Amino acid sequence: MSPHRTSTSLGAGRRLVVKIGSALLVDEADGTIRRDWLAALVADLAACRNLGQEVLIVSSGAIAVGRQHLGLDRRPLHLDEKQAAAATGMIRLAHAYQEALAAHSITVAQVLLTLDDSEDRRRYINARNTLATLLRFGAVPLINENDTVATDEIRFGDNDRLAARVAAMVSADTLVLLSDIDGLYDADPHANPTARLIPEVHEITPEIEAMAAGTAGGYGTGGMVTKLAAARIALAAGCRMVIADGHPLHPLARIDQTTRRTWFIPAASPQAARKSWIAGTLAPAGSIIVDAGAARALASGKSLLPAGVTAIEGDFGKGAAIVVKDGRGRELGRGLSAYSAADARRIIGKKTGEIEDCLGYRGRDELIHRDDLALHQGASE
Ligand code: GLU
Repeated sequence: MSPHRTSTSLGAGRRLVVKIGSALLVDEADGTIRRDWLAALVADLAACRNLGQEVLIVSSGAIAVGRQHLGLDRRPLHLDEKQAAAATGMIRLAHAYQEALAAHSITVAQVLLTLDDSEDRRRYINARNTLATLLRFGAVPLINENDTVATDEIRFGDNDRLAARVAAMVSADTLVLLSDIDGLYDADPHANPTARLIPEVHEITPEIEAMAAGTAGGYGTGGMVTKLAAARIALAAGCRMVIADGHPLHPLARIDQTTRRTWFIPAASPQAARKSWIAGTLAPAGSIIVDAGAARALASGKSLLPAGVTAIEGDFGKGAAIVVKDGRGRELGRGLSAYSAADARRIIGKKTGEIEDCLGYRGRDELIHRDDLALHQGASE
């Protein structure tokens, strides 16, 4: 359990996903990247890391940079033009981040995701593992949608929701949406001077939804409606989310110094939310039968290793949700398999050092990692 889950201080977070909107980073008029703003943001990110926080960036701006570079004036752009603009702009965006982060000796790693990567089980678990590995090596993942290959139907289209999916994927405890508005208002602040900013939200009620829809640009990309959709994803994953004004220099440092921001506070921790998602919401695709020693190891909080497995039932892919049973057929819990059923069958009963010889590649040591395992109450008795 994260003791800081309900805090409204950015400093309380341990793993932060920071989403940066195009309008902050890119000068719409000439498509240039605002280097001073970026340098100040990156100084804030470096300060977070010095406090021991892990940081992932989700940045927009590829299309805004690329369209100017290619001289595409049409509004709105056609899909193929957007994709060409994204391809042109992303490399420039990545360069700018690399340069800015290098000034603090921080390594940046570009990760382009499509909606499929968060929906499809196998790709999801791969993306999650890659991001975790990058964090372990101290790199800062720089994430954007893979606009160049995504077609309209499978596009996120907006990075607010992409950032929330990433936060859920890596079990982040904090999602920061740096935006051109400083928070959620109870009425449209442009039209209504008495509109009040809501500093804290604990539940997304129909009333809150009505407030978002009433904001100028509410339904547009990056509008308040997509921000609430992001909040819903984040809260369900046990992740706090804050909407804050990104315009000033050092926008992250500012969050803890102002009350003009909106925090969304979840009811559960990311770990608890992930486990209840694994335990409850997935249709299991097969089963793994474990011996008594493995059952005891699981009950004491360990991962499931192939050595303790006696049989595999069903046909499932890597990343699938499966049931874990003991020798008497009692369901101990559910988890996400790090191997397909076919590969899992080949490594049953094998020691960690034998996995590579059996499969011809070096996969994970665990068949189900303990973070991906939700044991039923009483399964340990
Ligand atoms: N992926 C788009 C880009 O980088 C941005 C989408 C958004 O701003 O929400 O240009």
